[in-house]
This record gives sequence, C-alpha cells and structure tokens, in this order.
Amino acid sequence: MNKHTFSSFNTYAMKVFRGKRVVVDGEIIPATVFVEGGKIVDIQRNIYSQDSNSVELESEEVVDAGDLVLMPGVVDSHVHVNEPGRTAWEGFSTATKAAAVGGITTIVDMPLNSIPSTTSLSSLNIKLDSARGQCYVDVGFWGGVVPGNQDELVPMVNAGVAGFKCFLINSGVEEFQHVTEEDLHIAMKQLVGTESVLLFHAEVDCAGLGQNNTKEETAESADDRKYQTFLESRPDKMEVEAIKLVCKLCLQYKVRCHIVHLSACEALPIIQSARDSGAPLTVETTHHYLNLASENIPDGATYFKCCPPVRNKKNRDLLWKAVMSREIDMVVSDHSPCTSDLKHLDKGDFLAAWGGISSVQFGLSLFWTAGQQYDVTILDLCRCLCENTSKLAGLGSQKGSITVGRDADFVIWDPEKSWSVKEQMIQHKNKLTPYIDTTLKGNVSKTILRGNVVYDEHTGLSEKPFGQLLLDIKFC
Ligand SMILES: [Zn+2]
Repeated sequence: MNKHTFSSFNTYAMKVFRGKRVVVDGEIIPATVFVEGGKIVDIQRNIYSQDSNSVELESEEVVDAGDLVLMPGVVDSHVHVNEPGRTAWEGFSTATKAAAVGGITTIVDMPLNSIPSTTSLSSLNIKLDSARGQCYVDVGFWGGVVPGNQDELVPMVNAGVAGFKCFLINSGVEEFQHVTEEDLHIAMKQLVGTESVLLFHAEVDCAGLGQNNTKEETAESADDRKYQTFLESRPDKMEVEAIKLVCKLCLQYKVRCHIVHLSACEALPIIQSARDSGAPLTVETTHHYLNLASENIPDGATYFKCCPPVRNKKNRDLLWKAVMSREIDMVVSDHSPCTSDLKHLDKGDFLAAWGGISSVQFGLSLFWTAGQQYDVTILDLCRCLCENTSKLAGLGSQKGSITVGRDADFVIWDPEKSWSVKEQMIQHKNKLTPYIDTTLKGNVSKTILRGNVVYDEHTGLSEKPFGQLLLDIKFC
C-alpha cells in the first residue's frame, strides 16, 4: 500500500489532483499530484485510482480529472491590460477573468497602452497599485525601454519586472516612443550583466513603408476597406530589416533578446543563423498568425487588424512548421483590445483602425484547433504555451510544468471536445474578436491557481480574485 500520511503537514490542508492523462516530465501518464500551501509537494507517477487501493487519501479535497488532460496552467507572456489610463480598453479584472476561463494561470502585462506606461520605477508602482486585489490569475509585468529612460532600467529589474519591451517603429501611443539604434546601445549597456531580457517589436520603417497608417497618406486609388491595402503597407521587409538589427545587437552585447509576435516567416533563417553564432535570442508568434490568413479576411473587418499584419496562407504554413521544428520557441495571444469606436467599423477603414486583436481567453483552444493539421501534440502545447513562456518571463522555477516545488497551477481540459465561440462567453471587456462563431477544439473544464479552483465550467469563476502579482523573478 502506498499510503500518504499528512502528519508532517500541519499548516495547510493537503489537496490532491489526479487523472489518467497528467503531463509530468515530458510524458502523459496516470498520476496523482499532492499540493500543500499552493505548491506541488509530491507526484506519484502511474498511480490513478478512484478507489483507495493504490493511494490512501486522507485529504478532504480531491480533484479528479478522470479522462481529461491535467497539465500545467498556460502562461501567456504577451497581454496588454491597459490599466490604469486606458481602462476602457481592458482592465486587470476582466483580462484575468478571461485568462482564467481560458486555462491560463499567469499573464505578463505589456508596458504600453496604460497611462503612465511602465517605463520608470514610479510608473511600475502605479501599475502595481492599480492591479492589486483584482486579479483572478497571477500577473507579471514587463517594463519598457524608451528614449532617455536608461537610468530606470536597473531599478526596475531590482523591483521585479520580467524584462523590457521596446519598439523600433511608432508604437501607436504617444507615451511610448520608439527607440533608435543609438538608444539601444545605451539600453543594452545598462542591461549587460542583469540577466534581464529585451523584447523587440521588430518592424522598422524602411523606405517610407509603414508610415501610411493614416488615410491622408494613402494613395487615392487604394481601397481602405480591403485588407490587402493594409497588408501592402507593412510588408515582410519591415520585419526582416528590424530582425537583422536585433541579431546584430544581441550578438554584440550578449544581452538576452526576444522577438515578439513574429509574423514574417522570411525572417526565420536570420534568427536561426544568429542563434547558431551564439546569440541568446528567442522568438514567439501569436495565435492569430497561426490561425488566420489574409486571403480570408473580409472587407471592412477591422477587428482582424494588428501589427505586424496577418499574412497569407503560405506564410502561416511556414510559421507552423517553425513551431513544430522549435525554430519558434513559444506562442502567445498578444491580446490587445480597444474600445469599438477605435476600430472604425462603420467605415471599415483598415488604415484608420487601431491595430490589435483580442483573444486571451481562447489561446489554448486556438492553438490546439489550428495545430491538428500539423500533428501538434499536447507536449508541443505545453512547451509553447507553458514552459517556454515561463522561462522567458523569469518564472521558469515557479511555473510552466508539473514539478515538485513549483506552483500548483493547472488546467484540466478535454482535447476531444469542440465548442463554438459566442459573444456572451467572452470575459474580456471589449468583445470584438475575429473568432465569434468559430468552432474550436479543446474545452477548458477547470483552471487551478496555486491549488485553488479559480474556474470551473459548471460553476464559473471563483468569487474571490486569488491572483498574485509576480515580482520574484529568477532568470535561469
Ligand atoms: Zn503586443
């Protein structure tokens, strides 16, 4: 008999999570996971039983996943929450409720679109004050690199930001100015030796491209209701040229660098070549680049607009191949909502509309659905959505896998069950999304944060927000 006694655990009640398909150490096996004080304290492999013959459970609380998958909670390292300052676009409460319903147990908030943007220690503290007490999942924070804020970077690292984001092109908001190569040399020198990471929105304005993002600057003949008009304004070359610069700086300073939301597959060989030369460089793509294709975007459907743009089917196919070959390390939502007026749906003007796609709630199912034709496995999903995103954000020793000592953050989901996206299900604040009425495969049954069930498909969200602010960042 494999008896588990709890005599040594007096402070907290032991909780038990078990199932026939538990993701442990790169395998999907029957297992029983013991949780105390929000941490995983023991894992018994190949033991799953509803009777007590194999494991004698004295715990009051047993969550039984049965035939469903029990895996680490999803860590979405690219979410724009926008609070404070643009809370009408999104806020901590609504964004984290959407995350919890989608099987996500940690989001990492982007530094821009909030006012102030997170580019100084004092603005970080303002953001922390606004987030505290209203998060349904855990939240980490990216800082920002903007021209002239180099003296704020190390203090922000010490305060617990996961790293920094910068733009190489107009960010779309006044408070977050883009950097030049000269600014980057200054910032990189500050970051050498910190083990922090610099994230790049990798598009540059080459040969005047990318400037025609307003109606006035568009050729008279172009139809702004056509997605193609917008696509042609932000060609692959803008990403390729930006990524060449990132690779050069990464190799020069050996500061960890990361390319956010890669869209143009043409840049992949450049990234691989820099890595082969020793650049500490990682790259993500998003669920929209892996699910959508420019050929299918209807005229005037500006809720499909984001930067860089969704490209064609051939490009999407190559991005998927790079995900499967591990050339792309991770997949995120880049959830970036706004109020519906900024999407100019009345005119359907792609050039005038705000760029950003909302989808944080659907990431797990989007990845699983689109991945079916590429033979994606649950282990691929854990690697791209849980492990590598955790490591990027300095959370690799706390999150991202079912391992003794880590947080008991889990999602229990049914990979076989299909469902359809309906507006009334959406928890994020503004409901515009390209996925309404889309049928997705993979249904979240329960989301567990540090041992607490924060979402159950039958009873809904927890009453209390259990999420914590993550400032104990350890780069490894
Ligand atoms: Zn973003």
